[in-house]
Amino acid sequence: MTFINHMIPGHEAEGSGTPVYNPATGEQTATVASGGKAEVDAAVAAALKAFPDWAAAPPQKRARVMMKYVQLLQDNAAEIAKRISAEHGKTHDDALGEVQRGLEVVEFATGIASHLKGDFTRDVGPGIDSFNQRAPLGVCAGITPFNFPAMVPLWMFPVALACGNTFVLKPSERDPSAAMYVAELAIEAGVPEGALTVVHGGKDAVDALLTHPDVQAVSFVGSTPIAEYVYSTGTAHGKRVQALGGAKNHMVVMPDADMDQAADALMGAGYGSAGERCMAVSVAVPVGEETADKLVEKLAPRVRSLKIGPSTDSDAEMGPLVTKQHRDKVSGYIDKGVSEGADLVVDGRGFSLQGYENGYFIGGTLFDRVTPEMTIYKEEIFGPVLSVLRAASFEEAVTLINKHEYGNGTAIFTRDGDAARTFTDRIEVGMVGVNVPIPVPVAYHSFGGWKRSIFGSHGIYGPEGVHFYTKLKTVTSRWPTGIKEGAAFNFPTM
Ligand code: NAD
Repeated sequence: MTFINHMIPGHEAEGSGTPVYNPATGEQTATVASGGKAEVDAAVAAALKAFPDWAAAPPQKRARVMMKYVQLLQDNAAEIAKRISAEHGKTHDDALGEVQRGLEVVEFATGIASHLKGDFTRDVGPGIDSFNQRAPLGVCAGITPFNFPAMVPLWMFPVALACGNTFVLKPSERDPSAAMYVAELAIEAGVPEGALTVVHGGKDAVDALLTHPDVQAVSFVGSTPIAEYVYSTGTAHGKRVQALGGAKNHMVVMPDADMDQAADALMGAGYGSAGERCMAVSVAVPVGEETADKLVEKLAPRVRSLKIGPSTDSDAEMGPLVTKQHRDKVSGYIDKGVSEGADLVVDGRGFSLQGYENGYFIGGTLFDRVTPEMTIYKEEIFGPVLSVLRAASFEEAVTLINKHEYGNGTAIFTRDGDAARTFTDRIEVGMVGVNVPIPVPVAYHSFGGWKRSIFGSHGIYGPEGVHFYTKLKTVTSRWPTGIKEGAAFNFPTM
């Protein structure tokens, strides 16, 4: 059986660790090493050693490594996707989409020389100039969730490295292979050994990173309780922390929306990746009873006919959930929705796939007449369960969303520009879609929710990523005398 070891220079393979499963079959396919303080100490020491030379390299040299990395990710996209699907369970096409969105962050990082350019003001005083530069922080760490095992690591370390930092990655222990592979490809692209290391494990490894005196900054993506813990522990130990948490994303459907388009959008956004996306739409908010009736009528047959299968089935629209425990948790939420009085239109419990009876599958589930007091509305389910919450008016829909503790993503489907514009202005959510169900910002913008979907003041990747991974230095300079002779005739190169 495969053993997935840490990626720390000089570290020998161990024998024991945590089991990794194929969620489509329920079979154990690998064991991943489980690191703690000793492994984190070794990884941070290697990263600290690699930092001075890497930080001193001209940004364009680091950019060239990223250019090579883009090529390697492109060349190996199918293999990365295969590894994602084998441990996460998502369909191959969905996994390829994940690789592409991660790769785009590396494309952004190839422009780092331009992103690091500072401001310059001549003559802030007589003969005095002022300029700023962005300096790397040192050793940074990233702690990532199971649901995008390649993309979320790629949201972090390419930008951090391009800025001149070194990086320790702690991937999800549930599906570590894809993260490991993209890290190995970064080394192949020219990231020096030690500048990027990988420590596998769970809480012990995370705690060791959060308290390590030589870790300057921590990026975290995962559930809200852990995000809050990572933020409070990391900042208490003097680190810069960005911690992105969970979500409950609403999609408002106005009476003038194209109902087929809205229903199709909800299918992809609610059930794609089995609902295991932080930008998944888990609540549909039709405005008006008539809109709600029409929407539910269109959704129900679509949910019933969802094609569910293993990632190796190219016709599958949705795969299994990541673990048995998670499947049982999602099933428990459906029980709860029923007991709390929601109208169960399509029940995905008890779904079984012939030949894959031990897989962690669950069917698509649709609830109607969900109310704000219900647990299935308040909590993040993170499964293929869509709740319809009927709003009497646009105003009620906006108030509902603004009251929810999470504020990651939201969308409005309408043909009315005024409704869309008012919605985008008034909604207390970080990422807003207008007739776009999953408004994940492109790599040269930045990603981040509001409220309890984020802890810390920076979004991730894009310009916010550059700011997070650098500190500002402002220089004010005066040169009372100077050398005004001598010349160099060769064309300047680096
Ligand atoms: P999780 O919080 O269980 O795990 C995330 C990371 O934290 C993993 O690396 C894990 O090993 C570590 N961890 C788990 N328990 C810990 C503990 N007690 N102490 C310290 N570290 C611990 O999240 P998950 O189940 O892997 O991922 C799903 C969650 O991530 C969902 O809530 C989803 O909304 C969220 N998510 C958010 C975003 C975003 O950008 N906001 C993106 C993807 C996923």
